[in-house]
Amino acid sequence: MVIPVDRQEGDSLPVSTFVGREDGEFPSGTAAYEKRGVASSVPSWHIDKCIQCNQCSFVCPHSAVRPVLLSDDEVKAAPAGFETAAAKGKGLEGLNYRMQVSVLDCLGCGSCANVCPVDALEMKPLGEEEAQAANWEYAMTVSEKSDKMDKNSVKGSQFCMPYFEFSGACAGCGETPYIKVITQLYGDRMMIANATGCSSIWGASAPSMPYCQDKTAEVLRGQTHCSRTMPSMVSVWLQA
Ligand code: SF4
Ligand code: SF4
Repeated sequence: MVIPVDRQEGDSLPVSTFVGREDGEFPSGTAAYEKRGVASSVPSWHIDKCIQCNQCSFVCPHSAVRPVLLSDDEVKAAPAGFETAAAKGKGLEGLNYRMQVSVLDCLGCGSCANVCPVDALEMKPLGEEEAQAANWEYAMTVSEKSDKMDKNSVKGSQFCMPYFEFSGACAGCGETPYIKVITQLYGDRMMIANATGCSSIWGASAPSMPYCQDKTAEVLRGQTHCSRTMPSMVSVWLQA
């Protein structure tokens, strides 16, 4: 169902395709499978300049640039060209650090490069950075280490999984970085009731759903998102 609708061929689907989904329910996290590759230029990370502040990840509207912490064994298992530096900061001793870009999910807005205080991100043509796609795939298999730092800080929050990724928001969107960080802080137990407006367009553009769940956890954690409730109401409830 997702692929034909993404191709704008949804009108040709028979009604029987939706048997079992009569209530309009869609699976979450489907935006991760789009890999649109629409950015003309994407950030390239200069490991020697980076001071590991994580500000680039914090401002990215699409969760397309993320810091990764790796053990020595995880570094050994990484693909060639997956450069890492010794992680800086209290609590990160003995770990390795990398800032990884998902070049096929990036929209090329340049917000990350603009915010970087030391020019450690350089916007380059997508064609020169395509090899990063394989590095991203590996980075997403590395174990999460969000407990190593206080998550109530810019740097610490970015080691937490965003339960909101690769939305169809415009390049450089000023809303989605806030939603993303809320999901990093509370996303494993959030319910969202969302009225129609920009937040429902980038939040539930069927069939590509950016709100997602942590499928690696023993207990399924993540978002429950409900779009189009009463037009005057946008509420976020945190489950106790
Ligand atoms: S260019 Fe924009 S979309 Fe791409 S990684 Fe940087 S902030 Fe994210
Ligand atoms: S903003 Fe620049 S210095 Fe800070 S983590 Fe990102 S690339 Fe490194």
